[in-house]
Amino acid sequence: MNHTVDLHIHSLSSGHAYSTIEENARRAAEIGLKMIAITDHSFAMPGGPQWIHFAALTMLPRNLYGVEILRGIEANILDYQGGLDVEKPWIDKLDVVIASYHDLVINATNRLQHTEGMLAVMEHPFVDIIGHPGNPAFELDIPAFVKGARDHNKLIEINNSSFKGTRKGSYDNCLEIAREAVKQGVGLVLSSDAHVSVKVGQLNQSQGLIEAAGVPEELIISRSPQAFKQYLFSKGKALDLKKSS
Ligand SMILES: [Zn+2]
Ligand SMILES: [Zn+2]
Repeated sequence: MNHTVDLHIHSLSSGHAYSTIEENARRAAEIGLKMIAITDHSFAMPGGPQWIHFAALTMLPRNLYGVEILRGIEANILDYQGGLDVEKPWIDKLDVVIASYHDLVINATNRLQHTEGMLAVMEHPFVDIIGHPGNPAFELDIPAFVKGARDHNKLIEINNSSFKGTRKGSYDNCLEIAREAVKQGVGLVLSSDAHVSVKVGQLNQSQGLIEAAGVPEELIISRSPQAFKQYLFSKGKALDLKKSS
């Protein structure tokens, strides 16, 4: 199946990404995507934008070049007690909230603590997606982590960039995560984590992995805009794309 949604894309505003939102959207249109989320790193990441960047995302058009544009963030997990670099009330106004561990922001400790930290983050109703949990630097108790996602209605990311050197060793962890998600019936999203427009929608390795893990299509929540909107609706975060320009 041709997946038409990419929910993890960085723009220039991340500080270490190199394309504008327009360039990302244009690329998405060229390759046939129907929906993208702009999810810049939040402010604890060196070079990341200040809080006002996220608070003002409501200025973004809802559609560019025929591609639906979602307003998002990749929040940094700050500690092992559920701390994130986000603030009320603007976090509740974003369409997509990814939460991730990054070694530039938090020191890795041990499997038990990484897992407890993830479970604490999942307590936040506004968090939608756990970013690149296959990262071996932040090893997890995979069955417990997936159960947490199921209990809290969170989606788990299979991050295509993780298989290209940035988070070496992610493949085997992601395969195990995907198999466990099938067992427990937890939704997955395939994302590019693009930091430059030519990478938008690049999901080949993630697609290969979910085939290898035997993930049924209905568990891929990023397969279509409708499937993702239905997920948002299920948590009372309905998108109204008609209202805005
Ligand atoms: Zn980045
Ligand atoms: Zn990340």
